[in-house]
Amino acid sequence: MAMPVARILFVLPLPEPFDYAVPEGMDVSVGSYVTAPLGQTERLGVVWDMLDDAAAAGRTLKPVISVYPAPPMPAAMREFISWAAKYTVSHPGHVLGMALRARGGLTPSPTETVFHLTGEEPKKLTDTRRRVLDAAEEVGAANAATLAAAAGVSSGVVKGLVSAGALRAEEMAADAPFAVPQPDLPGAVLTGEQGEAADALKAAMRTGGFAAFLLDGVTGSGKTEVYFEAIAEALRVDPDAQVLVMLPEIALTQAILSRFEARFGAAPAPWHSGLSDKDRRRTWREAVHGRARIVIGARSALFLPFANLKLVIVDEEHDGSYKQEDGVTYHARDMAVMRAKLEGAGVVLASATPALETVVNAEAGRYTRLMLAARPGAARLPDVELVDLRRAPPAKNQWLSPHLVHAMQETLAAGEQTLLFLNRRGYAPLVLCKACGERLKTPGTENWLTEHRYSGRLVCHVTGYSIPKPSVCPACGAKDSLMGVGPGVERVAEEVRVLMPEARIEIFSSDTAMGGDATRGIIDRMETGEIDVLIGTQIVAKGHNFPNLTLVGVVDADSGMKGGDLRAGERTYQLLSQVAGRAGRAERPGRALVQTYAPDNPAMLALADGDRDGFLQIERDVRAELGLPPFGRLAAMIISAPSAEMVDETCREISLAAPNAAGIELFGPAPAPITVLRGRHRRRFLVKAPRNIDLSAYMAAWLARLKPPRPVRVSVDIDPYSFL
Ligand code: ADP
Repeated sequence: MAMPVARILFVLPLPEPFDYAVPEGMDVSVGSYVTAPLGQTERLGVVWDMLDDAAAAGRTLKPVISVYPAPPMPAAMREFISWAAKYTVSHPGHVLGMALRARGGLTPSPTETVFHLTGEEPKKLTDTRRRVLDAAEEVGAANAATLAAAAGVSSGVVKGLVSAGALRAEEMAADAPFAVPQPDLPGAVLTGEQGEAADALKAAMRTGGFAAFLLDGVTGSGKTEVYFEAIAEALRVDPDAQVLVMLPEIALTQAILSRFEARFGAAPAPWHSGLSDKDRRRTWREAVHGRARIVIGARSALFLPFANLKLVIVDEEHDGSYKQEDGVTYHARDMAVMRAKLEGAGVVLASATPALETVVNAEAGRYTRLMLAARPGAARLPDVELVDLRRAPPAKNQWLSPHLVHAMQETLAAGEQTLLFLNRRGYAPLVLCKACGERLKTPGTENWLTEHRYSGRLVCHVTGYSIPKPSVCPACGAKDSLMGVGPGVERVAEEVRVLMPEARIEIFSSDTAMGGDATRGIIDRMETGEIDVLIGTQIVAKGHNFPNLTLVGVVDADSGMKGGDLRAGERTYQLLSQVAGRAGRAERPGRALVQTYAPDNPAMLALADGDRDGFLQIERDVRAELGLPPFGRLAAMIISAPSAEMVDETCREISLAAPNAAGIELFGPAPAPITVLRGRHRRRFLVKAPRNIDLSAYMAAWLARLKPPRPVRVSVDIDPYSFL
């Protein structure tokens, strides 16, 4: 008798699904998570299609081995995976892998034994027993190890209390379910414009189906409060609705998790690269079963196979970290809109400095634009003042102008806080030999080594290569001749310590805030006023509210403008207005001083004038003129090989294989942004096309013509973002 056929897509970089027979009695349907034999091993995959019995006639197919007891992957998710693979020119199985990053979540939670108080007193009440009962009273039902640790006794004491009748054992899921959010707890009393924006979002939730919004509001204008109302409405309309909230650098923003908890009475389910395996499988399982109702995550959360996704929020939608650069390269903001479309869900892109792409989409009517122009209550946007470093430069080998130093002293005297922003980690971005002029680089590359004084090392921020700082120049052998050139946050901190010895100073960068705890420590001390001057890299720009922060100093506003990146001006504008927006968020007004050698640059002028739309207009004209995104399309092909000769040779062949197509312009090969990475030499072709050309299809056709030799790797990056 013929058996039904399951067409299985495996979590492997394979171009298509394979057919397997479904044994009788096995409950397999489209979307089922299954294992099946492939080569010598058993592999995980998802049933992409079911063929009827006739398809098996005359074929010898291997059987499906097992089915996981998880709900089948919904059709919208399968479509999304197929679409994303096509768009990014990747294998669908590779994209499927991104949706299956927690295989432990495919099976039900393991159980563990927890102990409850029975209310009975044990006959023999020793001191250790007393302590365990007190601990159980305090922490509630918990496993033996937790109770024993809380009471400071061995777990034998816990078990003894079970025999004595004072504790009762129960088997419980080790991965606790997430609490259900309550939409009807009171939110903020919205201002007029906040209320209007919230009403538009709520109406869309009631209507249902796909709808895209740009929530465009100055920093601190209450965008979060507004999208809270959209989430609440989604949960009211459909009690089973799931909501995905995406944030850049989620691991760093404890404050926002607490706000969700306060608003909905339940902590959201987290998803980011820093989760333990246990937490990861828990969020994945609960999202797949539809029980995690609000998931808050980094860009990869977009690939969670939600059961019933109704709303997606992309907060700080302009943020560069939404672009994934490794493996399957994708832009999570753009993909979020597509995902919402396929799910029939709402999507809200929120930002104080929306990307030009997003603004153009809103103006073309593809997104509804909701504006928040004011900060509620007393909070005011800071005054931004450009400090012309050509006129009043800092002293030699210093980085803070007299004007900024004076403002910092005033701020300290008023008992208020200063934030100094410099997007350079370490002490000095370049180490130079005074004797021979040698610039220290990572071997085989053009990447400068950054001096880190705290660790005493020279570090490459691109490859991670690091060495202890040498005492002699590796090129000429001169002794004590190496000096750091240019400022990093450590060096600016040193300068502030000399200028303001009484101030409490801390550095906030990914070197000093390595984990969530260290980060929270700095944020807490800043919030409680234990820091006078915080010196930080771009991680300070994101989302924090420091009520007593009234001065922001931008040490080097020009640093982001260098390099041939098409978005350099835009990114500088976004970052600086974000940083400036940290000041004056509560009762006290704030100001921002921006040090620059190019005060006539349009980005700087617009920043000083608060003229974002004027700035966007200049950007838009330039890009339209050059046919760059969003007015044209870009894609890159990156070729890497173990030697420069091999990569150059292959590039010649790849260049010849490029299909001819009207409107397509091909540039390169040129050294890739990171020329040497993990021992591989990289080159890049850049392809430019008008908007109406399917550039993914073009790149796929080109790729299909290539048969590069074994150690050469070729990858495609649609909508590339880094050009440096
Ligand atoms: P954004 O997301 O636009 O930066 P937030 O939603 O974080 O702004 O709001 C900034 C601060 O102002 C937060 O502390 C928030 O709780 C507060 N806030 C915003 N709107 C209101 C309101 N209508 N009533 C009271 N507080 C508000």
